Amino acid sequence: MEKILKGVVEFRKHDFEKHRALFEGLGQGQQPHTLFIGCSDSRVDPNLITRSLPGELFIIRNVANIVPQYRESGEYLATTSAIEYAVLALEVENIVVCGHSNCGGCAALYLPEESFANMPHTRRWLGQAWVVRRRVEQNPEAADIGAREWLTEQGNVVQQLRNLLSYPFIRERFKQGSLKLHGWHYIIPSGKVLAYDPLKGYFGEMY
Ligand SMILES: [Zn+2]
Repeated sequence: MEKILKGVVEFRKHDFEKHRALFEGLGQGQQPHTLFIGCSDSRVDPNLITRSLPGELFIIRNVANIVPQYRESGEYLATTSAIEYAVLALEVENIVVCGHSNCGGCAALYLPEESFANMPHTRRWLGQAWVVRRRVEQNPEAADIGAREWLTEQGNVVQQLRNLLSYPFIRERFKQGSLKLHGWHYIIPSGKVLAYDPLKGYFGEMY
């Protein structure tokens, strides 16, 4: 804890001063251009990997960067409400779903049921992505565990892009061309980001 408390002081002294005008402007409101949906994993830093500043990305992070299917509910829907707010109130122009290599949430899709005995909420949350596991297991390439990992992480991103289109207000804006959807796979040890090409149906290097 000491480390992050020191960080707070250092931020105010150095980083804040460097961007003082930006922060003063942001004090009046936000106008982010992109909704970034990423994994909660400590190694995935949306602002760092896109070199974006405060005010640019509206960020949702959850286990395995999952987008729940659209539904109306009396429950407290954190991810769904943040998507709704980003699109309808903030009018973002892009949505990025960003998976990553070595994703524990995606790997957990292959764990036996008893592994979740004391984590019923995690099990239920990841259940939304079991369709991805079923699809990957039909792919002969998935016999190799390394290949299976990437196929699952990338297949999961594609599934979440599909889930985004189950939101009526996203489908509408996507069809009109006022909202763009992007699927990324961030590779931690190389720093590369692979982008999904919906026409070719695979993830390729974007630069
Ligand atoms: Zn993850």
